[in-house]
Amino acid sequence: MRRLRRCKIIATLGPASADKAVLAELFRVGVDVFRINMSHASHDDMRERVRMIRALEAEFGRPIGILLDLQGPKLRVGTFVDGAVQLSRGAHFVLDSDPTPGDVGRVHLPHPEILRALQPGHAVLIDDGKVRLHIIEAHPQKAVAVVDIAGTISNRKGVSLPDTEIAVSSMTEKDRVDLDAGLNEGVDWVAVSFVQRADDVADVKKVVHGRALVMAKIEKPQAISRLEEIIEISDGLMVARGDLGVELPLEQVPGLQKRMTRMARRLGKPVVVATQMLESMIALPVPTRAEVSDVATAVFEGADAIMLSAESASGRYPVEAVTMMNKIAEEVEQDPYYRSIINAQRPVPEATGADAIASAARDVAETLDLKAIVAWTASGSTAMRIARERPESPVLALTPSHETACRLAVVWGVHALVTEDAHDIDDMADRACANARTEGFANKGERVIIVAGVPFGTPGATNMVRIAYIDGKAG
Ligand code: PEP
Repeated sequence: MRRLRRCKIIATLGPASADKAVLAELFRVGVDVFRINMSHASHDDMRERVRMIRALEAEFGRPIGILLDLQGPKLRVGTFVDGAVQLSRGAHFVLDSDPTPGDVGRVHLPHPEILRALQPGHAVLIDDGKVRLHIIEAHPQKAVAVVDIAGTISNRKGVSLPDTEIAVSSMTEKDRVDLDAGLNEGVDWVAVSFVQRADDVADVKKVVHGRALVMAKIEKPQAISRLEEIIEISDGLMVARGDLGVELPLEQVPGLQKRMTRMARRLGKPVVVATQMLESMIALPVPTRAEVSDVATAVFEGADAIMLSAESASGRYPVEAVTMMNKIAEEVEQDPYYRSIINAQRPVPEATGADAIASAARDVAETLDLKAIVAWTASGSTAMRIARERPESPVLALTPSHETACRLAVVWGVHALVTEDAHDIDDMADRACANARTEGFANKGERVIIVAGVPFGTPGATNMVRIAYIDGKAG
């Protein structure tokens, strides 16, 4: 089973996609990676979903990626005596450490570290920015604010703080427990929410300890000024446009999306564009023209993956939404402008053997119109460096590791296949050709270019390219 596009599709699972038949259909029509959002899933839900996905893999004989998205420090106000209050513009409103239910003049903010970090002038956004305050007085036990955008606040509404740097790690106790449970189930990627600094990702990586790859979700203004160091330490990046569009002016999000996509591409880390891509398909079987254009923009920019959230988790048309994303990506990648836009952002190779070889392999494959670049890869790193080149020729990654194959599901253009490691150079060439043929990349008499590291199984030892003819032997 081979996809006819390079950009990958991630679908979030939820009640609309809990059923085994729907899950299978979502995979069949285009999902490469399933996302389990720990803001909503219980451990039992998560375990059941992981098991269903692994069963699906066995049924289809294809690796499928699983992304565990940690909730992170979601901030909320406490409760109100009457369940909700209406705040008027210009009124004073106090956020404090008193756990008793609030009223029109005050509410509990059950996060002492936030009360300590607030400063006069900082904005406080409540319920995704529907109500906006700014702080005029800050004390360790309470902060006095003025209402800038009036509205209703009800019990436990979310709080966003675009100006406030929070001293604590972005990994909460719940995240730690969720992470352990997910790693025990063998998830492939972990997404860290509300990253503010590189250390937030480092903290999660310490716990993960190589058992999964770690993706930083960029959704806080504090992360924007430290983007390069965050991407450097992360294995991948998510442009989490939902919260980003709450904490920053909406009109800044498209430019930031471009900046992040380009930076991640330059650093060779997979980048996912997420949230509200086909939002209207939550309720309707067709998207708006603007949504189609938004998905197309991410594909034209060379994003590794595009993501569905509520559309596939709780919408009425999950299968239609994936089908639509698949069609948009396929169409864009056939567009006459696509190649020139992708090539314009091609980063120069870094001064490493792996990059020099990845770049040379792309060049040779394009010059000779070779049918595929076949990469032997143990950790997946060789395949990722080839994907960084965004080659015109398809990339077939051969790996002895099921884990690596599933991790590569998120990477632009990589079709991964689990196969026994090669025994020697001839075996490597023979099996690369045989698999290229059986996976539908090349026919007898056509040629592929093979990239590998010798001696085999040594991570980071990419040092060999070979052009080979397909001789018709089975893989
Ligand atoms: C987002 O904010 O865009 C996002 C992907 O995060 P979540 O869905 O976890 O809020």
